[in-house]
Amino acid sequence: MSSIGFIGLGNMGGGMAANLVKAGHDVTAFDLSEAALARAEAAGCTRAASAAEAVKAVNIVVTMLPAGKHVRAVYGEQLLGAVGPDTLLIDCSTIDVASARAVIEQAAEHGLAMVDAPVSGGIAAANGGTLTFMVGGEDAAFARAEPILQAMGKAVIHAGAAGAGQAAKIVNNMLLGATMVATCEAFALAEKLGLDLQTFFDISSKASGQSWSMTSYCPVPGVGPETPADRDYEGGFANALMLKDLKLAVEAAHGVDASVPMGAAAESLYQALVNAGAGGKDFSSMIRFLKGAAA
Ligand code: NAD
Repeated sequence: MSSIGFIGLGNMGGGMAANLVKAGHDVTAFDLSEAALARAEAAGCTRAASAAEAVKAVNIVVTMLPAGKHVRAVYGEQLLGAVGPDTLLIDCSTIDVASARAVIEQAAEHGLAMVDAPVSGGIAAANGGTLTFMVGGEDAAFARAEPILQAMGKAVIHAGAAGAGQAAKIVNNMLLGATMVATCEAFALAEKLGLDLQTFFDISSKASGQSWSMTSYCPVPGVGPETPADRDYEGGFANALMLKDLKLAVEAAHGVDASVPMGAAAESLYQALVNAGAGGKDFSSMIRFLKGAAA
């Protein structure tokens, strides 16, 4: 069993740290939020007074922070100078590819192995230990990270070199955002053309318009499997988080001169939806927005 320092015990990190404790690891935890720290302590983590203190005597560090600027600051200003020489660093936050590569490079300058390991799956998957991890980094670092990540997830996939985990995550979510917008506008049009939406689902989910957004996450209440649409678009994957990932994808595309017109269109639609006050609703609530309803 490993001795683990865990920084960032929010919606996702809280459940992940608890699952590491359940798997028998020794977890020392730090967060800026007192409430998050208290929850982690109740789940069996040892409380630390700072990020540097949480990692000084561990062999693994896991971080689950909001964005690239937090990850750069926490590693650059606090962790890299505080950890022991053989510590493996695992960042599970969803951040821009450039920040992920820069921090991994900085870690290497300190002689430290690091992987980027963003997740697919929301708060329920973090609590339930069923996340999917997409991991970027060298083979040896991946091999060390894999058993730790397995304690928090159902799948751990080596995506490639440093930054490849973040790249895989944002490209996948760009595709998801674009297919959700397309699925929502298709159902909205089907309705206006007088089609019964259950019948349209039965046809399209078995025809060439099929996608995960339609068959597994149908945005129409009462049609297809049970989804957030059946709970007034509560729970699920928030519009604000979809917008964050689309912005990261479009920004990454600009950096490599890639043309992503569908991703950019999805980004501006989710921006409008969030501006209309629906940042906390599930991302399939795009259908209400496209139908002209109040967000
Ligand atoms: P969150 O805001 O609930 O948690 C982030 C935590 O980091 C907070 O508790 C905050 O206090 C802490 N923090 C910030 N700066 C810190 C610092 N300098 N030192 C110590 N602690 C600090 O966010 P979340 O929903 O848990 O998401 C975390 C990451 O996971 C994000 O990158 C997000 O995009 C990604 N993600 C979230 C979901 C989801 O459904 N919530 C799904 C997949 C991926």
